[in-house]
Amino acid sequence: MRLILLGPPGAGKGTQAKMLKEKFQIPQISTGDILRHAVKDNTDLGVRAKSFMDAGQLVPDDVVVGLIKERIKQADCETGFILDGFPRTMIQAEKLSETLTEMDLTIDTVVDLEVNADEVISRLAGRSTCPECGAMFHEESRPPKVLGVCDGCGGTLAQRQDDNSETILKRLEVYQESTAPLKEFYMRQGNLKTVIARGSVEEIFSRVCEMVR
Ligand code: AMP
Repeated sequence: MRLILLGPPGAGKGTQAKMLKEKFQIPQISTGDILRHAVKDNTDLGVRAKSFMDAGQLVPDDVVVGLIKERIKQADCETGFILDGFPRTMIQAEKLSETLTEMDLTIDTVVDLEVNADEVISRLAGRSTCPECGAMFHEESRPPKVLGVCDGCGGTLAQRQDDNSETILKRLEVYQESTAPLKEFYMRQGNLKTVIARGSVEEIFSRVCEMVR
């Protein structure tokens, strides 16, 4: 099963991708996570990506396209994968289609998680993430059992550097401009499914599962 999760920042792509990964035993490929690890490890990639990420801007297409091309050719992707946060521009979507065609593969479903801008702002502003395992929490809707500590691995939770109000607004603007047009692209290809991302994480997950069966 090969899936793409679309939706604005804060729509819950990461959370749903992790649940899909467990259910279907296929890897979650998050360009955001790959880039954040590179920044943390101070690799060449991280150094190149950091200023874009801190400003809420997209990292250049050639960088992320290169990452994805390499990643989906790895052995664990043979039974499928979940793309979380990629593609984000028309160029990325076109390059992905080209690569998949070369590999004689297709995307089965593109799930678009729909959520309004006000909801996004409150979700992101209250969000904390575990830098070790990537688990996400929210001070109201999904608080950790112990304040500031990851339920899964015991790591110390942190707020993402780009989850501040100024950068959130920029990321939303970038989403509207560069990523929202991908809905039309995948609608024309006939594999776009829209899920209203409102309610509990479990409710949203059951709607997502209905769409990807
Ligand atoms: P995310 O964790 O998906 O919200 O991504 C965090 C940041 O990483 C974004 O605001 C971008 O700066 C960068 N990023 C992640 N995925 C992409 C992508 N597909 N194209 C360009 N930049 C990306």
